[in-house]
Amino acid sequence: MLLSYCYLMCYNVYMKGKTAILILILVFLLSLSSCSQHVHEWTLGTIIREATCTETGLAMQVCAVCGEMHEIETEKRPHVEGQTTTISPTCTEPGAVNVTCLICWQVISSTTLPALGHDWWPVEGSYEPTCEHEGHDCYSCSRCNEIRIDVLPALGHDFSGPVERIDPTEIENGMEFTRCKRCSLAQCVILPKTAIAE
Ligand SMILES: [Zn+2]
Ligand SMILES: [Zn+2]
Ligand SMILES: [Zn+2]
Ligand SMILES: [Zn+2]
Repeated sequence: MLLSYCYLMCYNVYMKGKTAILILILVFLLSLSSCSQHVHEWTLGTIIREATCTETGLAMQVCAVCGEMHEIETEKRPHVEGQTTTISPTCTEPGAVNVTCLICWQVISSTTLPALGHDWWPVEGSYEPTCEHEGHDCYSCSRCNEIRIDVLPALGHDFSGPVERIDPTEIENGMEFTRCKRCSLAQCVILPKTAIAE
């Protein structure tokens, strides 16, 4: 009986010792992890690749506390205004004023100049329309020599002048007679014989 009690005591002490060691290990681990969990204080280290106006750059950042390093992308540089080129507009095509970048030659701003439209001037070859035939107005552009022909429709006869009348009789037809004011073409309207009175 005494022997078994002694054994139990010894076992208890042994177990307590083991727990103490376990606690010690835990405390050690906790202190270690809390040490590595600081807020990094990043400072700009070396530049690996300079940023340009077409590509981002690359730089190395270093933590001032633990010395950890990592790469970061740096922003593109703005374009540098260079040459201005003017493309003149034509009668039909718009032009532009383009500004290129001094470094990469890309067009960085463009202003459209509207097309001029033709500058028409009358040229030989035009003729007036008549009562029955269409006319043509001919023009040429002073800048590009393009030709334009406007068709003028035929005018049609103008029978609005005075009407001559020959009255019909019982024997002969009558007539209404007009001439076109422009081309003198005659237009006749037959008036039938009057009915013979019974
Ligand atoms: Zn750090
Ligand atoms: Zn550029
Ligand atoms: Zn033109
Ligand atoms: Zn006519």
